[in-house]
Amino acid sequence: MDDCEIDEPFLVFGQPCLGEEEIAEVVACLRSGWIGRGPRVTRFERDFAAYKGVDEAVSVQSCSAALLLALQAAGVGPGDEVITTPLTYCATINAIIHAGAQPVLADVDPATMNLSPARVAERITANTRAIIPVHFAGRPCEMDLLRGQAERHGLTLIEDCAHAIETEYQGRKAGTIGDFGCFSFYPTKNVTTGEGGMVLARDAKHRETIRILSTQGMTLDAWKRFSADGVPHYAVVAAGFKYNMTDMEAALGIHQLARVEANWLRRREIWLHYRDALTGLPVTLPAMAAPGTRHAYHLFPILVDPRVAGLDRDGFLLRLRELRIGSAVHYRSAAEQPYYQSVFGWQPEDVPEAMRIGRQTLSLPLSPALSDHDVERVVRAVRTVLDTPRQTAALRASL
Ligand SMILES: *Cc1c(COP(=O)(O)O)cnc(C)c1O
Repeated sequence: MDDCEIDEPFLVFGQPCLGEEEIAEVVACLRSGWIGRGPRVTRFERDFAAYKGVDEAVSVQSCSAALLLALQAAGVGPGDEVITTPLTYCATINAIIHAGAQPVLADVDPATMNLSPARVAERITANTRAIIPVHFAGRPCEMDLLRGQAERHGLTLIEDCAHAIETEYQGRKAGTIGDFGCFSFYPTKNVTTGEGGMVLARDAKHRETIRILSTQGMTLDAWKRFSADGVPHYAVVAAGFKYNMTDMEAALGIHQLARVEANWLRRREIWLHYRDALTGLPVTLPAMAAPGTRHAYHLFPILVDPRVAGLDRDGFLLRLRELRIGSAVHYRSAAEQPYYQSVFGWQPEDVPEAMRIGRQTLSLPLSPALSDHDVERVVRAVRTVLDTPRQTAALRASL
């Protein structure tokens, strides 16, 4: 065992990569006296729309807000069913519940960990109104098949792109393939604003609805109301939400987005290095990106099968922590969560692949903020953790 690890700093999982430009822009925003929604939000929305090659992007306070507003703009509500993956953050499921609809789980493909179109087909009923695929870890879902299913059954397709800012599928950018694309700028995501989100919508009317719903249901936002050329009245046309982004957040986003491609190259380098350096160890590594697609390399999830690795996932995570390496779980199946079990009667066995993956999965640190030394520490720590139980077993066998 490496005693030197004890002297190393704790390697935080999902460290954001913030530069001097972000810091200077936030300071400039503070000095400008305009810290609410204003010109920096407008610029960030324009930059994001340009990055995605679309006319307009609508900023919000989080991806959770983006998902709820997309569902509401699509008219999804009580009596409707929305099919999604069990291998997602609870925000995806909660947005469906807050829209008043019923979440329905379809299992994942074990190789890609993405929503399986075949399992989706089995869950479509007369009440199904929408499908929310999640591009898990940054790998695109089978969008041609999902798009086809949505069109055949008249369903709204909402892409949860929280892991998928840089993702592409057959030349199309994630978030522009379905009817809506919802993005997160949470600190661990590939672009961060601290808290923040963005919605893309194919239909301009949907974008207008989302904009109105994100600002209390008012038809003019505060910036226009109080600026010199604005009209000092607003009209409330819906019971909306306080979901708008602020200029302090957009100040971060403008420079984060400017560096997203450079950061992506570093993410890919680390991801491919892990793939290479960990090959042959008794854990399952994530599948390589499929041809014709672009992976966002948001996560590097490994599967720890206790029968093969000699210890279980939680034991693995705790041993990594002793070696001062932070890791995370993305995700235990939604069908494992007590609230959903009590309200919807879900059982983990209903979605067996997500159950197995959710009990075995562990995400290694992956951030452009990692140095080569950090990456080597992670590789060494994974080897150390996997060596110990096998040595113990060999010792037991020899006694
Ligand atoms: C992070 C995340 C969300 C929620 O994003 P917030 O911006 O924190 O609301 C939703 N879905 C997935 C898959 C996520 O990873």
